[in-house]
Amino acid sequence: MSCRVLDNELHFWRAAGERPQIWWRDDDAVSVTPQLEHLTRIVGSAGIEILLAVIPANANNELAAYVERLPILKPCVHGWSHTNHAPAQEKKSELGAHRDIDVVLGDVARGHQRLEELFGNAVLPVLVPPWNRMRDDLAPRLPEVGIRAFSTFTHHRSVPDMQVNTHVDVMDWKTRGGAAGKSLDAVQVELAAALSVSRANGFYPVGLLTHHLVHDNVAWTTLAAIAEHPDLKWVTVEQAFAHPSTTS
Ligand SMILES: [Zn+2]
Repeated sequence: MSCRVLDNELHFWRAAGERPQIWWRDDDAVSVTPQLEHLTRIVGSAGIEILLAVIPANANNELAAYVERLPILKPCVHGWSHTNHAPAQEKKSELGAHRDIDVVLGDVARGHQRLEELFGNAVLPVLVPPWNRMRDDLAPRLPEVGIRAFSTFTHHRSVPDMQVNTHVDVMDWKTRGGAAGKSLDAVQVELAAALSVSRANGFYPVGLLTHHLVHDNVAWTTLAAIAEHPDLKWVTVEQAFAHPSTTS
């Protein structure tokens, strides 16, 4: 598991008297599948909590019952139906500026409401916008529909008080065959880069991003190793969101 680039970065953390914190977000949950069960086995044995971004329009009662049995899974709203409303030449977006803001906010509201019906109090007041993007003017409106925070995939925080992001993606989405899992070495190099940015900006928790439905064997092997990495301190979703923000 040793990786020279990560070992070098960890050396800096030790010298600073800090231990790297990492948290986990998994996207696109709709039902109980063998992949979700595999994910749950990995995090369950390591005692890791997951922010589970659920697609409300497709989520079913079976998922609700599963999450109720496994409190390490923290469901939150992932748009409404993961539908792209951007034109073909633009990056995909469900909550972008392609529709009226009240319509977009309405999608978030009914998504959150649907999850509250399914998961009750277990649902967190957090939005994960599909494809990690949303219109800039949506964040200040989110409290109107009961959402207090959101999470995308970047070190930049447009609204630092509301945003806790992910930074390391276990999947490579640009391979010719579609998506492919990254090797442990590749993920450790990306983790080192993310930790370096965190170290320069107040040692905030680094977020790991996964999509259980598309993981191949490489991705699963990498995740099992990362989950057991002795130098990483896994923090709960709540702890990740409670960390004071220092980057913008
Ligand atoms: Zn998604």
